[in-house]
Amino acid sequence: MVDSHLIDGTAIAAQLRAGLKTEVAHWLATKGLVPKLVVVIVGEDPASQVYVRNKAEQSKAIGMESETIKLPVETTESDLLALVAKLNADSQVNGILVQLPLPAHMSSLKVIDAIDPDKDVDGFHVINAGKLSVGLDGIVPCTPLGSMILLEEAFKPFNDSFSGKHAVIVGRSNIVGKPMAQLLLAKDCTVTIAHSKTKGLAALCQSADILVAAVGRPRFIKGEWVKDGAYIIDVGINRITDGETTKLVGDVDFDAAKAHARAITPVPKGVGPMTIACLLKNTLTAFCRQHGLSMDKAA
Ligand code: NDP
Repeated sequence: MVDSHLIDGTAIAAQLRAGLKTEVAHWLATKGLVPKLVVVIVGEDPASQVYVRNKAEQSKAIGMESETIKLPVETTESDLLALVAKLNADSQVNGILVQLPLPAHMSSLKVIDAIDPDKDVDGFHVINAGKLSVGLDGIVPCTPLGSMILLEEAFKPFNDSFSGKHAVIVGRSNIVGKPMAQLLLAKDCTVTIAHSKTKGLAALCQSADILVAAVGRPRFIKGEWVKDGAYIIDVGINRITDGETTKLVGDVDFDAAKAHARAITPVPKGVGPMTIACLLKNTLTAFCRQHGLSMDKAA
């Protein structure tokens, strides 16, 4: 039994946004420049509409310029590619995000590949994935970037660090699992990536000092899989029915896991708020690089 700390993603994201807001104000005051994020959404997917609205609101709240381009579901792939090319060429646009998933008649790989890597604030372009894997400064996907910040904050009360820890990541997607593994490796963790064909998952998780769950299955990671004193980052967002209401739960059985974890993220209010805050951070990073400005005032 461990006295578990809650990793408060809402508060840590608010702190990050406050720092970004200060920096945005600084560049406006000193250079007359404002970072601009353009979000493109195709179709009417309700969850995507909510994400896009939150991104726009939070960009504006820290003083950034934000534009949302809504395209009908019947938009052709070549029209979307033409729009991306136009945004790439527009020097007023610092960050471009095409909201996924795209309608089935479009290739998201092709569309992401068309975005200028320097404006790819989701960090999904192969150039950015490659830079991350060889240790160059690219743009890091928002959810893993936010998860690393949460871990850094979780270590603070214990004066702890990444070095030498065994990190187990359950999930190997290009947007969460793989970039998370690269970031942890760069911080000198020993990293294991698990997936649906992994054998002996429970024992593997039990050996984790840092356990990252990015599976997409409600309460999949059981309490007894968690080593005493482990740090847990629960990336999962799953909507489940509980009686007559629906609620969000993570990929970790939170109540059981927190009896073992040294620190754990809740769902909601854990990783989720950090993802959008890191999108804003990436937009500011892209803006600074495009203008040759130093990021030293950033949070
Ligand atoms: P994907 O569906 O792309 O990947 C899921 C991964 O889990 C795959 O690698 C899959 O393995 C693995 N997996 C599935 N079943 C098992 C199993 N039984 N045992 C071990 N591994 C398994 O999901 P994402 O990475 O995109 O997202 C993961 C979760 O995180 C989702 O709940 C999503 O909603 C959430 N999410 C949350 C974000 C946030 O801001 N908080 C942002 C992005 C995602 P295999 O490769 O073998 O199929």
